[in-house]
Amino acid sequence: MARLGSWIEPHPEGIYVRPADAWVDPSQPKARALVTHGHADHARGGHQAVWATPETLAIMDTRYGEQNANPVGYDETVRVGEVDVRFVPAGHVLGSAQIVLEHAGERVVVSGDYKRRPDPTCAPFVPVPCDIFITEATFGLPVFRHPDTGSEIDRLLHRLHADPTRCVLVGAYALGKAQRVITELRARGHEAPIYYHGAMERLCRLYEDLGVPLGELRHTAGVPKAEMAGHIVICPPGALNDRWSRRLPDPVTAMASGWMRIRQRARQRNVELPLIISDHADWDELTTTIREVAPNEVWITHGREEALKHWCMTHQIKARELNLVGYEDEDD
Ligand SMILES: [Zn+2]
Ligand SMILES: [Zn+2]
Repeated sequence: MARLGSWIEPHPEGIYVRPADAWVDPSQPKARALVTHGHADHARGGHQAVWATPETLAIMDTRYGEQNANPVGYDETVRVGEVDVRFVPAGHVLGSAQIVLEHAGERVVVSGDYKRRPDPTCAPFVPVPCDIFITEATFGLPVFRHPDTGSEIDRLLHRLHADPTRCVLVGAYALGKAQRVITELRARGHEAPIYYHGAMERLCRLYEDLGVPLGELRHTAGVPKAEMAGHIVICPPGALNDRWSRRLPDPVTAMASGWMRIRQRARQRNVELPLIISDHADWDELTTTIREVAPNEVWITHGREEALKHWCMTHQIKARELNLVGYEDEDD
């Protein structure tokens, strides 16, 4: 009998699905790409044909121009070569999907990036039992246990209300994290306008066009300093400490990221208010998910592989590291 998943070939630049002649999230341009979600480390430009959810394709269009696209809605099955391919919600960002591959009586699920906690901007993760679960492990260490999102948002609001002469500047990735922080604030009753850095504009508009209301957003350009006092301003992490932020009224610097659990990371970015809000599964979410999908084998794409591999082995699940390259932590 052939080895389980012998039709799936991990390469440093992505996962090759031989009977489909297609790659999952390849880091190089390919003839056929199956793309889990819109973050730049998973969705690259230059493929000849792309299969992805309509939302992911819309994100790719805004970044790379129009794709030769094959839109696949959640839970729709399409045939690619000799493989049945299904996209199932991953709960990571808008349009994010796990890719379910069926061939030769075996089911392989590629998680892409995922999380299990509620996120008002995207459909929740659906566990799919499978033979091989190919998972990320960005926060694959027991030290990573993300706190409740609501309590982090409350800390942000508390800080904002503590001094109405200052603004709170929140660093958040432009795709996913920014919109999630905004909708979580709205859900906590924060209705005031939220100001944003120009780099956020296109993706915020796209989210709204795709049915995620964000409330009143204002561009910071040309706004007098005093007007932004007592308000939340949101920007990409790279803008937190640059010249741009000097136009803001005495900002309290905050950042929303799973890495804010590590003090050193917060200090590196001069973050005064670290907010542990992550779009990736933490340790408990990773291990709970593996229990639920009950695979024979776990293949780990990227992240902190060692501890998760060890956990799998102690639970009688075969595990291997794929060491894929090019998946950065930039979308945490
Ligand atoms: Zn991602
Ligand atoms: Zn990623």
